[in-house]
Amino acid sequence: RHRSEKCTVGCPVLDRCLNGGVPCRSITEFVGESGSGKTQLCLQLALSAQLPSSHGGLSASSIFIHTEFHFPFRRLHQLSGAFRTSHPDLPDPCDRVFVRAVHSADELLHLIPTIETFLVYSRSRWRPVRIVVIDSIAALFRSDFENTGSDLRRRSSLFFGISGGLRRLAKRFGLAVVVTNQVVDFIGDGDVRVGNLSDGLYSSGRRVCPALGLAWAHCVNSRVFLSRDEDGPVRRRRMSVVFAPHLPHSSSQFLIKGEGVFG
Ligand code: ATP
Ligand code: MG
Repeated sequence: RHRSEKCTVGCPVLDRCLNGGVPCRSITEFVGESGSGKTQLCLQLALSAQLPSSHGGLSASSIFIHTEFHFPFRRLHQLSGAFRTSHPDLPDPCDRVFVRAVHSADELLHLIPTIETFLVYSRSRWRPVRIVVIDSIAALFRSDFENTGSDLRRRSSLFFGISGGLRRLAKRFGLAVVVTNQVVDFIGDGDVRVGNLSDGLYSSGRRVCPALGLAWAHCVNSRVFLSRDEDGPVRRRRMSVVFAPHLPHSSSQFLIKGEGVFG
């Protein structure tokens, strides 16, 4: 398969910002504050992936691993309603999004061989799975870990185990792996390298930086920052590429509407 294969996120403006879409054979992170649109974008990606390559998709199914609260089934149905209006010839897109809850980093690590078996199985049974979403990775590390030496070591070993496993699957099956991450308030200059946009990362008027630090930043291939402008009459949001292989920094405004995410 072509090395630079991409999957549309369902909006030409945001695809252009991502230089054609979310890359296959690679791990992409959407990072942003709560309400910035990470989950919305992942849901829309899981639908868009089902489109044929003539429409920028992968003719593929998706695995959606959620780690907090309930999976937003109602929102997926709402988005798929709009999606079916534009693509009435496709079968029910909700049938091609396989949802699974995961509650801890250990559980995710131990799920990787099961995911691999499912990926093999999906190739022979349905449209193959080519998208794996983990929403969110940060939630798995929020509790249960202290700032002690042994916990930090356990944390980085889980980072490497999980991202190494996912990258191997991404290469073997041509997957686009997407993980979401939260932000924390920026303190001092310790994390500048993690999000190296020259002016720093701002959302809702706050300076922020991605959670999970430098060790995790090295585990993802591309990092895309989603932010909210300070409240105006329209809730405008912004997508910015923080780092990505062979990709310049670019940024684009977007809105979240009933029918989906649009630039
Ligand atoms: P978190 O970190 O809390 O999971 P998130 O980045 O995943 O946040 P999303 O769930 O993607 O956030 O986005 C939530 C926002 O999407 C809401 O605040 C709302 O503005 C917008 N939104 C969600 N559903 C709709 C809808 N049906 N119509 C319009 N806007 C919507
Ligand atoms: Mg979310």
